[in-house]
Amino acid sequence: MSPQKTPTPKPPLNSKANLAPRPLVAPCGLDCFRCLGCSEGNVADHAQAIAEVMGDNFQIYANRLKTFNPAMKEYSSFRTLLDSLAKPSCGGCRSKTRTCLPSCKVSECVCEKNIEFCFECDNFPDCESTGLPESLLERWKNNNILMKEIGVDKYIEGLAERPRYP
Ligand code: SF4
Ligand code: SF4
Repeated sequence: MSPQKTPTPKPPLNSKANLAPRPLVAPCGLDCFRCLGCSEGNVADHAQAIAEVMGDNFQIYANRLKTFNPAMKEYSSFRTLLDSLAKPSCGGCRSKTRTCLPSCKVSECVCEKNIEFCFECDNFPDCESTGLPESLLERWKNNNILMKEIGVDKYIEGLAERPRYP
C-alpha cells in the first residue's frame, strides 16, 4: 500500500502575514501595508519574490511556452507590471516619501496635533480640513468611527480579512 500523501497546509489568504504593522495604517484608516504603491508593503514583497523566482531571462522561456500556453504571449506586459509592483516608491502615508493623494492634509495634520488617527481629534467627524475628495471623505469618516468603536488592533485584524481594493 502506498503511503498516504499529506497535503502541505497552505496558510490562509488572510493570515497574520497580512496584518498591517500599526505605523502602516494611515490616519484615514487606509491600509498602506497592502497598498500596491507601498515600498514597505506585502504586495511589493510578493512581486519581488515572483520576479526573483522567474529571473531576468524568462522571456526566452515565454517564447517557447506560448506555443501551448497562449497566456505566455502577454509575458512582456506582465513583466512590466510585475517590475513596477516590485519597486513602488511610497514609504506609506506616515513616511517622508508619501506619494498618496497630494491634496490630502490628514497625515500632516495628525502629526501637528501629535495624535495617531483623526478619531482622537476634537474636530472629528465634522472636520473640513482633510483635503480629501468626496469619495474618500466617506471612507475616512467611517474608518475612523470604526477604529474608535472597536479599537485600532481589532480594526487592523478586520483590514486583513477583506481585499485591499473592495
Ligand atoms: S495621504 Fe491621505 S488619503 Fe492617502 S493614505 Fe494618507 S491619509 Fe489616507
Ligand atoms: S483637524 Fe481634521 S484632518 Fe486634522 S486630525 Fe483633526 S480630524 Fe484629522
